[in-house]
Amino acid sequence: MARRKFVCGNWKMHRTSAEARALAREVRQATDALAERVDVAIAPPFTALWAAAAELDGSRIGLSAQNCHWEPQGAFTGEVSAAMLKDAGCAFVLVGHSERRQLFGDTDETVSRKVRAALGVGLHPIACVGETLPEREAGRTLEVVSRQVRAALAGLSPEEVGRLTVAYEPVWAIGTGRTATAAQAQEVHASVRAILRELAAGAADRVRIQYGGSVKPENAAELMSQPDVDGALVGGASLKSSDFVQIVKGALR
Ligand code: PEP
Repeated sequence: MARRKFVCGNWKMHRTSAEARALAREVRQATDALAERVDVAIAPPFTALWAAAAELDGSRIGLSAQNCHWEPQGAFTGEVSAAMLKDAGCAFVLVGHSERRQLFGDTDETVSRKVRAALGVGLHPIACVGETLPEREAGRTLEVVSRQVRAALAGLSPEEVGRLTVAYEPVWAIGTGRTATAAQAQEVHASVRAILRELAAGAADRVRIQYGGSVKPENAAELMSQPDVDGALVGGASLKSSDFVQIVKGALR
């Protein structure tokens, strides 16, 4: 089944609202015309979501947040709910990014709660999974990714699974300049697809599985040419519009 590729830029903790407007404008100008053939989204920090939303108004580029809390509201100082993100103009939210898992205590359990909270308000979660270098070197990649995917999907109906994206991001490739080979990525993506078929047969073929980890203009097209690599989650290279646009174009080759 042909899946439309999906490229999302994760801006992490970069860009003020004025800077975000400028970058969102550049991305819009360069990619809106491609939006018939590839889905594009950007994920600015919380404080710049409104500004980016205003800049994207009327375009086909999606807005994503980088995290959410699982409760709808309450005494959770410093947290932001899925409904608040929807209100700010988001259609997507990253959940379980490895930086959240490693630095801010996200676990398989909280990732599962966040996925359900996001789906509950009509957001499309982008559930991030991936092994560390020691896990890869110990031959545990598929086991770790399987555990993370199963946890993220726990309790979801096939219809709900159909509304999410999975991002496979080997931790050793994030921000390191070291990228998985196309074959390494495809091996893991195929294993994720097999889990999707097992858990949500009706939805498995339409769920996009993005690859993330030092995606650049030079490697994007090859990675996305793999049968189960349905797009990219791009960190560093998404902060430079010309690089991000080249990556988006790589999805069309
Ligand atoms: C990311 O943050 O999701 C990511 C893949 O980062 P980078 O592209 O910089 O490795």
